Amino acid sequence: MHSILVYHTISESHEASPGDEMISPERFEQQLRWLSRRRRVVPLVETLHRKESERLVAITFDDGYRDNLTVALPILEKYSLPITLFVVAGFVDRDGYLSEEELREMSRHPLVTIGAHGLWHRHFNRLTPDEAHFELVESRRVLEDIVHKKVDLLAWPFGECDGALERLSAECGYRASWSVWKGTNDSHSRWRVPLGRRDNLLLFIAKSSGGYALTEAKWHRFQERRVGTACGSGRSIARVERDSPTEINRPLPQAVLTRPD
Ligand SMILES: [Zn+2]
Repeated sequence: MHSILVYHTISESHEASPGDEMISPERFEQQLRWLSRRRRVVPLVETLHRKESERLVAITFDDGYRDNLTVALPILEKYSLPITLFVVAGFVDRDGYLSEEELREMSRHPLVTIGAHGLWHRHFNRLTPDEAHFELVESRRVLEDIVHKKVDLLAWPFGECDGALERLSAECGYRASWSVWKGTNDSHSRWRVPLGRRDNLLLFIAKSSGGYALTEAKWHRFQERRVGTACGSGRSIARVERDSPTEINRPLPQAVLTRPD
């Protein structure tokens, strides 16, 4: 199967993101160099209609950190590798995140596609249908207003989705959506492989093969069934924490509690 990689922040600084998802520029370049020589890296949307047997790689970035422009993009340019950047619409212009002008600059770049990642990076599995609908529609609207382009790709915050949410994302006009192991790996819950600071080159090579994604997804299913049996719930917060350690700890803004008119 194809391998869809998830990056967050490319940085040396501990301030930008204190969790496991921060990758140094040196390690990022090492990974891109390997990919450019040994794998076929394509824009994310191409993986939707290409045969899984082609084992393509696509690169995604989540959240919309400023260093995606200042640090990651020059290295991506060097190897001419495309990315899809899933932006939290409500985080634009915040400290450490892309400003509106920087996001526009990214969206105009030929290697970059912009996608949505929720309005406030909330846990979709905890939202009412109305709240989820609002997040999905408003995040698209805000991003499209900024970049003046259609935004119809979605990455679920924390990778959280289920059947109802997958249907809702289709109803809200998204062409396709990506999770991290959750869902059915169908068009609105496609699996992705999270990368982190601990990934040495060997682990990165494993993660860039489709076999790793399949094995890891099966492992997550197994863990979820175990937790579901033990707790009477189908959800496993522990697994989500492993997928996105800093996202779990990140404080949400007060504005999450209130809706704009
Ligand atoms: Zn995220």
